[in-house]
This record gives sequence, structure tokens and C-alpha cells, in this order.
Amino acid sequence: MTARNENRFYDAVSESVRENFRAYVDELMVLLRQPSISTRDEGVQECAEMLAEHMRSLGIRTMIYPTERHPVVFGEIGPEDAEEVLLVYGHYDVQPPEPLDQWKSPPFEPVIRDGKIYGRGTSDNKGQLFAHLKGLETYMKVAGDPPIKIKYLFEGEEEIGSPNLRPFVLKHKDLCRASAAIFSDSHYHESGRPSLILGLKGMLYMEIKVKELASDFHSMKAAALPSAPWRLVTLLSTLKGEDGIVKVEGFYDNVRPPLSEEIEAVDSIPCDSNALLSAHGARQLLENRFGQRYYHNMVFEPTLNISGLLSGYTGKGSKTVLPAVASVKLDIRLVPDQEPEEIYEKIMRHLEKHGFGDVEVYHESGFIPSRTPITNKYVGVAREAVTKVWGTEPIIYPGIGGAGPNYIFTRDLGIPCIVIPFAASDQANHAPNESLVLEGFEKGIMTSAAVIHTMGRLVHSREGSSDG
Ligand SMILES: [Zn+2]
Repeated sequence: MTARNENRFYDAVSESVRENFRAYVDELMVLLRQPSISTRDEGVQECAEMLAEHMRSLGIRTMIYPTERHPVVFGEIGPEDAEEVLLVYGHYDVQPPEPLDQWKSPPFEPVIRDGKIYGRGTSDNKGQLFAHLKGLETYMKVAGDPPIKIKYLFEGEEEIGSPNLRPFVLKHKDLCRASAAIFSDSHYHESGRPSLILGLKGMLYMEIKVKELASDFHSMKAAALPSAPWRLVTLLSTLKGEDGIVKVEGFYDNVRPPLSEEIEAVDSIPCDSNALLSAHGARQLLENRFGQRYYHNMVFEPTLNISGLLSGYTGKGSKTVLPAVASVKLDIRLVPDQEPEEIYEKIMRHLEKHGFGDVEVYHESGFIPSRTPITNKYVGVAREAVTKVWGTEPIIYPGIGGAGPNYIFTRDLGIPCIVIPFAASDQANHAPNESLVLEGFEKGIMTSAAVIHTMGRLVHSREGSSDG
């Protein structure tokens, strides 16, 4: 496509979205009025049906797949034998709206104030999901049938940890097969610049309990009997140094070295260390393996975090006691290519080796980490689409500190996975007065149309080259 045709496409897209925007917002409002609170089974099925109905009205072949709890809404549109297949993921369930008295307007009666739609699920995730449906609609209005196949996978259980997403994908691998997955969640940069997120951390959760005595005793016995909290503190001091570096043997062995392009991307994330320190009330940044560099450590470093520590008397005043038990909860965030089970075994070996083989350990493996290489061609597609629509290059995060199930796409389906957020950083998701900024919704619609268009060019360029 010539540069002139390119401009014509983008002009037509923005004109079409402008013309139809009011109607798109009204349609979104209908979906927002339908509660879909997955954790207490409120309105989820109804919301799935409403969403499926809307998808069918756009010409998307749509099915509702029951799972053990809340259904998956799955749709397809585009040529049967398409070479390029885009999988759009999203979730139509929402968090409970409580505390209700802190909402300025009722959570399921969406209203527009100051350029934002307020209501539960506006940003997380109905509005961001809906932008993709309106993006398809816009593409079809402007350019006709999509040149690629697009699959829509919308689950109703994200807010309860997606228990049936992986089983669904593994059971329907052919149905879900695609060239790339995108979804829109989280938020773009505070400055208003668009972002791409290419990875999430994994998670291993552990609880360690040290028991030294049959019960708590008078602390005079501390002279002669062992102390559970002191032993736990000793144990913990073997796990990590003051510099932030984890001392478990082999902990970093499988950490994938960042690509130079990924390091470069992280270098260009706007970062004001002093503002960060004052925002957190911290005296200094952690040293860690990249030195005191906030984003490098956030993106590339695994953590071994103490998220809870419990022993002895913590009430008012003093109590002289020798506690029988001490326990700690650890959340361990992993980066590619660490595995939760592998790290669990390494920690167990470490405890054994340091004389703590007798302590009680409970563990839960959460997520496997994921990171789509920044050099992947579909990252290029997303980057181009975003740049054209937003008029500025996106900030690219090779990964973020959060954990999530992106590995279902990157590992189970073996495809790149790219997050393009359309919500602003003040979206207040999970909190009272959640909102979606209208500008983000509008740009989201255009971005989604642009992704279809840009990915379609991959097909055309291949056809072009095979012709001659
Ligand atoms: Zn959420």
C-alpha cells in the first residue's frame, strides 16, 4: 500500500469513529449496566449472552462454551483459510463493586463525567474489550471484509484467577490456534503516551512454619530453650542478602538474558528516581543485580518477597514470652525461563542444606512467567498501529512486575502475546469510581482497526512476493 493509501485509511478510520462514537458509547453502556460479578455468580451468564448477541450482530460466528463455572464466549470472523490469525482475548466479568457508599454514581448505572465513563467494568475490562469489537466494526465500515481471521476469546473468570481458561485453551487448541494474541488491559503511561506490555512475571507462593516448642513459655526460658522466631530469622537471612540478591543456589540459572533491544526499551521508559523515592517514602532504591535502576529491576529481576511475618506477642504493651511458633509467607515473582516447580525444589534443597530440613512448608504454584521478544514481528505490527493512531511511539515494557496467565498464549499456544492498554492510569479498577477515559476508548477502537489493517499487510506483502 502506498503512503497515500495508508493516510487515506487512517483518515477514514478516524472519521468513521468520530461519526459513530456516540452510538458506540451507548452500546458499551448497555453492557456495563449488566452486572457480571464472577466471584458471587451474579449476572455472568446473562452478560455472556448479551456479549455473544452483540458479536453476532457484527457478523462474528459466536458460540458460548460452558465451563465448570462461567462460560467462555468465543467468536471468529474472516477467511476460513487465512494465513494470519489474530486472537483477541478479554474478560467480561468484573470485581464486586463494594464499598457502595464510596461511589459517586451507582456502579452499574454508568454515567459520563469530565470525559470519562464511570462504572464497574468500564476499564477492567468491558470497555477495553468492547473497543476491539468496535475496531472490527470500524475496519469493516472503512475497508470491507477483514483480510485476516480474527478470533475473540472472552472469559468470565479473570477476576477469580481464570481457573478454566487454561483447561479451555488446552481442550480447544485448534479452535484457539493463532499467529498472535493481543489484549487490552492495565493502563497506558501516566504521561498519556501509549504503551505495549510484552510480558508478565510468574508466581510461586510459599509459607514456611518453624515450630520449636510444644507451646509458648515464660521468656526466662529463652536462656536454655530454642526460639522459633530467631530460628526463622536465621533461615530467612540465608535466603537473601541485604543487596537484594537471592542466595538460593541456582535461583538465577534459568533467567533468560535480556536482548539488547529489550534493555534499550527499558532504558527509554521515563524514570525520575527522586519522584519514585518520594512517592514510596523510600530512602533509596534496592541495589539488586542491575544496580539501583528501578525499571531494569522491575522488568528483569525475579523477587523473593516476604509478604507476611508472624510470631509471638504483637499486642499493646509488653509481654515477656518465648514463642513456640514462627511463620512467614513468601511471594516469589519469577521471570522467564524460571519455573515455579523448579524454584520450589531449589528452595527446598537450600533449606535442607542449611539445616532447616525439618520446617513445615506449604506451597502454591501460581503462574509461569512469560515474555514475548521485542524483536517479534507482531510486536512490530502493534507498534506501527499504535504509533499511527496515537501519533507517538509507544513506551515498550518487555515485562511488568505483575503476574498473570499470559503463558497460556506464549507457552501453551506458542504464540506472541501483546498487551495494548486503552485505559488511563487513574482508572481505579477494582476500586470505587472505576472509569474509562473516552479518549482512550476512542483511540482503542482506532488502534484495534489499525492492528487488523497492519496485520493484513503481512498477507498482502506475502501475496505480492509470491506473484513475482
Ligand atoms: Zn481486574
